[in-house]
Amino acid sequence: ARQSAASAPITPGALADGHRVPLMANVGSPKDAAKAVELGAEGVGLFRTEFLFLDSDTAPTVEQQTASYTELLAAFPGKRVVARVLDAGADKPLSFLNDAHEENPALGLRGIRALRASEHILRDQLTALANAQAATDAQLSVMAPMIADVDETEYFVALGRELGLEVVGAMAEVPSIAVLADQVLEVADFVSIGTNDLTQYTLAADRQLGSVAALQDPWHPAVLRLIKMLGDAGGRAGKGVGVCGEAAADPALAVVLVGLGATSLSMSASALADVRAELLTVTLDEARERAERALGARSATEARQLAAGSSAD
Ligand code: PEP
Ligand code: MG
Repeated sequence: ARQSAASAPITPGALADGHRVPLMANVGSPKDAAKAVELGAEGVGLFRTEFLFLDSDTAPTVEQQTASYTELLAAFPGKRVVARVLDAGADKPLSFLNDAHEENPALGLRGIRALRASEHILRDQLTALANAQAATDAQLSVMAPMIADVDETEYFVALGRELGLEVVGAMAEVPSIAVLADQVLEVADFVSIGTNDLTQYTLAADRQLGSVAALQDPWHPAVLRLIKMLGDAGGRAGKGVGVCGEAAADPALAVVLVGLGATSLSMSASALADVRAELLTVTLDEARERAERALGARSATEARQLAAGSSAD
């Protein structure tokens, strides 16, 4: 039995053989940022910018956004902060971006689709993020939610670069992006896998609906196989493939994700200690063996069991 992870020293994320896996935090507010710093996050892997504006009736100005982003980035001098542009729609509607009623909002005008339809809002946000980058010492990256193909990737990367952002990536939340991972990684600087939505869309199971919750399981081998496609493509392209969905907060699954090719993990800060401790118990070869076993499972339950079982040798 290992020591209580919470009392273990805060060290940079790594496996038993020293293979580095930066452990980052998911944040939505300056309060979350303070907690992340306290609990030893190596940066922010997902800054959910829409959380700042859920109550706004009108689009925030560039000045308001610059002030908010600068406050958040200032908590992470010298560290990487990945800001996601507004993920409006479905479970997170923003009244100034989502006005039309939709029967199936999870399949509707959300994420990058909504921003593209109101490009001035996206331009203002990227401008404010660039301002915050200039005002702080954080290493800012930006990424867009719900990217479905290379056309959307090219659109977002070009706009980000035009407005002064240097590191521009795509979230992998729609299964099509895993199928097209090579194309996407030719254009994007990195990919960050949002396992909550990737699972919802792979299994066609609404993440907010209790009656299909059993299908909303990131251990499902279909989800793991898509993650492997992304990890392999990232390896070939020499680009980062992070995971920022809740899956990264499950210590046993975090090991499997690294075995599938994840290069960094981002989670709510409260999960960092347990994941840090678990990663230290395996080498990269062992993580890959666990991933291999989980990929062969016939169900999420079996994937959990196979990953936990001892290897054949
Ligand atoms: C995800 O979908 O996994 C994700 C990280 O984004 P959100 O949970 O905010 O939709
Ligand atoms: Mg998502």
